[in-house]
Amino acid sequence: MHTALRLDPSELSTCVSCGLCLPHCPTFRVSGEESYSPRGRIDAMRAVENDGRPVDDAFVDFMETCVQCRGCEPACPSGVHFGSLMEATRASLAASRRTVPRWQRVGYSLLPRHRLLLAGSTALALAQRLRLVPRRLGVPPLPLRRPRPLAPTGDDVWLFTGCVMDAWQRDTHRCAAELVTLTGSTYALAGPGGGCCGALHVHAGLHDDAVDLARRVMSSMPGEAPILVDAAGCGAALKAYGTLVGTPEAVRFSDRVVDVLDWLAERAERIPSIEAERPSVIVQDPCHLRHVQRSTAPTRIVLGRVADVVELDDEGLCCGAGGAYSALQPAMAGEIRERKIEAIVRVRNASGATVVASANPGCSMHLSGALEALGIEVRHPVEIVAPIVARASGGRGG
Ligand code: SF4
Ligand code: SF4
Repeated sequence: MHTALRLDPSELSTCVSCGLCLPHCPTFRVSGEESYSPRGRIDAMRAVENDGRPVDDAFVDFMETCVQCRGCEPACPSGVHFGSLMEATRASLAASRRTVPRWQRVGYSLLPRHRLLLAGSTALALAQRLRLVPRRLGVPPLPLRRPRPLAPTGDDVWLFTGCVMDAWQRDTHRCAAELVTLTGSTYALAGPGGGCCGALHVHAGLHDDAVDLARRVMSSMPGEAPILVDAAGCGAALKAYGTLVGTPEAVRFSDRVVDVLDWLAERAERIPSIEAERPSVIVQDPCHLRHVQRSTAPTRIVLGRVADVVELDDEGLCCGAGGAYSALQPAMAGEIRERKIEAIVRVRNASGATVVASANPGCSMHLSGALEALGIEVRHPVEIVAPIVARASGGRGG
């Protein structure tokens, strides 16, 4: 007999209800309500799964308001894999059509259609210029023109460029490519099918679509070369293909995936160390780098070649971006962001730094929406390092 949510019973029973995760949960921090905490959500899952409680609107709300930041995981002494529980719950809710209405499914289905996505992004950018897109939708200002796509230079590594990021933040790829080249390596670009990693589909609970996309991405970057990713959310998704697809081939693929900052940090001595006129840069760790990929030092090592790193004092609390979360849960996302902005302003006031480094496009767009008015810029770390290095060596430095 299938249970309502099809959760792993041993996973569900691992939680001992200690509550140590609560202070690390952004939705608990802003609401103060147990039901919006990891422990409360696990209790609600147990009530449905073990006690036969109905999947009602309140249950759906508790699950949909989770940012899936996984800040609760490193804080948990029992090693609860909260992300797996939430992903399985979302998959059950989506399969029974309790979540992800048709318009959202249409939106997710467009992500792998890259030409359509590029055309749609340009149309959206135009609509923004004509003030036809309500600000409450939280769509960041999009570029009307985008730089030319990257051209491959060889086959030492693959550089994964993704879907939305390639449409909205191509400059990040250009800077990542410049730094890879600086280290003496060449890069290849994914072949057909390598445009969308499926991270947003996993978040939404569209499991079968995510598996389908994972298989396409895997066949787009064959061989043994490392796969570099400059978006923390995409990198986390690619690293999880082994579990998602569940084949030895998928496990081998996932093992090749590395965040571009991790890869560059191992070759940091090949990035010139700049001592003069170093900017102060506030580091905001994206949850999918800090909590999921458990990577924090590489960002600081790479940035530290050219800039003085300024730390936040909020212990890596989520910014509220969460893939499509900021668009789907704007009220909660806005409250969570407000706390992050306060933390950034605190260290800005103390240090004078006016640039924030964030290695995930969703976080940087979400934060930019509030920080621009305060005169604070958000950029990917490679977009800070590459121009400084280029300027120092008499190059472009744009
Ligand atoms: S994933 Fe993030 S938002 Fe969800 S319960 Fe854990 S800490 Fe809270
Ligand atoms: S998820 Fe972990 S930290 Fe949170 S209440 Fe359960 S056992 Fe404690």
